[in-house]
Amino acid sequence: MVRYINVKSKSRIEFIDITETVQEVVKEAGVMKGICYLYVPHTTAGITINEGADPSVQRDIQNALSRLIPHEMNYHHREGNADAHIKSTLVGTSVNVIVDEGRLLLGTWQAIFFCEFDGPRHRRIAVEFV
Ligand code: ZN
Repeated sequence: MVRYINVKSKSRIEFIDITETVQEVVKEAGVMKGICYLYVPHTTAGITINEGADPSVQRDIQNALSRLIPHEMNYHHREGNADAHIKSTLVGTSVNVIVDEGRLLLGTWQAIFFCEFDGPRHRRIAVEFV
């Protein structure tokens, strides 16, 4: 049974920490050991695992991506969000986390972030266990 986490982004570019929500899904599913597979079914969003303790790391990642891939450039895609499609491909749309003893096996400073690149929008993240 695929489960879904719903998020609502408030900005065009925004990282949303979903770590605790994912842990709740693990608990509800009763999974003690296995792989938690997280998948973002969107073309202008992504998912990543990185530092959750210092929010300036998220800002630095967002700023670096925006310097590499500016919003306005001579893109072919006419929807006006070509940069968001490219950022989605670079960041990726899935991550795996080991579940051990019912807990996500994350490092001390690690958090799971849904990455919005073309918000604000309603989004969802699919969760499956192996
Ligand atoms: Zn588009």
